[in-house]
Amino acid sequence: MPDTAPRTDVDWSRIADALAPVEVIDDPVTVKKRSRDFFWYSPILNAELRRSFGDLVVRPKTRQELAHVLAVAHAHGIPVTLRGGGTGNYGQAVPLQGGLIVETTAMNRILEIGEGFVRVEAGALMADINAALIPKGWEMAMFPSTQDIATIGGFVAGGSAGIGSVANGPLREKGNIIRLKVLSVEAAPVEHVFDGEEALRVHHAWGLNGAITEVTLRTVPTRDWVGCIAGFDSYRDAYSAGYALAAVPDAEIARKLCSVVDARIADFFPRLDAHVPKGRNLLVTLVPREHLEALRALVGGHDGVLHLAMDEAERQAAKLPHVFEFAYNHTTLQVLKSDRSATYQQIGVPDPADADRVARMRARQGEDVWPHHEFTRGGGTIYCADLPIVWFSTPERLAEINATYEADGFTVYDAHVHVIEGNHMQPDYRHLAWKKRLDPRGLLNPGKSLEWEKVRHLSADEIERLGPSGPNATET
Ligand SMILES: Cc1cc2nc3c(=O)[nH]c(=O)nc-3n(C[C@H](O)[C@H](O)[C@H](O)COP(=O)(O)OP(=O)(O)OC[C@H]3O[C@@H](n4cnc5c(N)ncnc54)[C@H](O)[C@@H]3O)c2cc1C
Repeated sequence: MPDTAPRTDVDWSRIADALAPVEVIDDPVTVKKRSRDFFWYSPILNAELRRSFGDLVVRPKTRQELAHVLAVAHAHGIPVTLRGGGTGNYGQAVPLQGGLIVETTAMNRILEIGEGFVRVEAGALMADINAALIPKGWEMAMFPSTQDIATIGGFVAGGSAGIGSVANGPLREKGNIIRLKVLSVEAAPVEHVFDGEEALRVHHAWGLNGAITEVTLRTVPTRDWVGCIAGFDSYRDAYSAGYALAAVPDAEIARKLCSVVDARIADFFPRLDAHVPKGRNLLVTLVPREHLEALRALVGGHDGVLHLAMDEAERQAAKLPHVFEFAYNHTTLQVLKSDRSATYQQIGVPDPADADRVARMRARQGEDVWPHHEFTRGGGTIYCADLPIVWFSTPERLAEINATYEADGFTVYDAHVHVIEGNHMQPDYRHLAWKKRLDPRGLLNPGKSLEWEKVRHLSADEIERLGPSGPNATET
């Protein structure tokens, strides 16, 4: 295990002086708040991480200021944790060994909008990027349900998929990330450029192997989207409709969201009370206006009813949240607003087309596990992840729930682990080879990679030769 003890031998006021003219926040309340992300979704991570705090928050406004911060950290050998909006779920942005929390939200300029791409600074909020793109006829190919408060740098470094991924694939799908610019942590930090497939060396590396300064992403033509919620008596019917919607050709229904939510979870959505009857299993989606009738027919064909269909203007007039705030990990948040004993898990569905197997698993798991499925597509294949609400009682019961999934071939990507190799993922040594090149002293987000502690004594090329593996799209 890595040494996760914070440094006690540092004169932080001296470090703050060295960081000038970059904005530094040393107010203990703010530093504590910025040391947290959404790890508290997990009672296990909450117990492990709630006492891990940084020492100073630093807010660079330009890449020159960021380079200065990284040079100071290198000179003094102090840990650096990059932070965007702090919406990650696994303590990704929690400083385990104290040090600098480098918040990127002041580096937020939208630099260029072109035919099929957008180039932005890493701290730009995704809602702001979409707001700039839409009047020009474009939108992000995908974004997380946290777009209002999450940064593009945090999404690329910590996220995997989102609204749009059922049409355009996850972030790692070829062509979605066009270019990343990344600063090293050295005496004189160098900006490296990662194009195309090379960008996957930095994507989903949890800020371990460089500070992303600039992101160029694929964009897609925007459409007149209608947010829709359909209701079904049975979960199996809702799931089957979801699968059919994910599988239908884009030319027939170009959905950019396809989420299925258990009726027991939907009962925790009071904002929908005036629009959606209680006790219904839901299909939550966004379709272009011209495909609304085709969606209505698909829903009817699975014994469902389309209860809600609102375009953006109607949604705002009705003072409703976006429909995607009843999808992805916002489902967990909606339940947690009423009852803090809820948590969740991340499950890969072995055969998304097999609705019977999904229905059997729902019955087998019992009353403390309520399913919620997200469909995505990658390389033309349909994937499905279950992000169930789990009513947490004990770690032993959680292990039993996981074992029940695994016994029937479902994969558990454990959401209750705070190391990058922990969510049932193979270590990606290509990430760690770049860490060796860009962060040779191992100052970035220390304690988050167990494998790094084993290989850090090797050269970058030796680490690279240990082989590749990829992060999984199930994480949210
Ligand atoms: C309610 C809820 C819903 C969510 N829905 C989704 C979803 O739909 N899809 C999804 O993929 N995720 C989802 N997430 C997880 C998370 O919101 C996303 O991954 C989000 O994009 C993270 O962005 P952020 O700015 O908050 O990153 P942070 O939490 O601030 O950081 C995430 C990781 O990236 C690193 N990092 C941040 N900025 C940089 C940088 N400039 N350079 C290098 N490393 C950096 C951090 O050190 C950390 O390891 C959800 C989380 C919540 C709480």
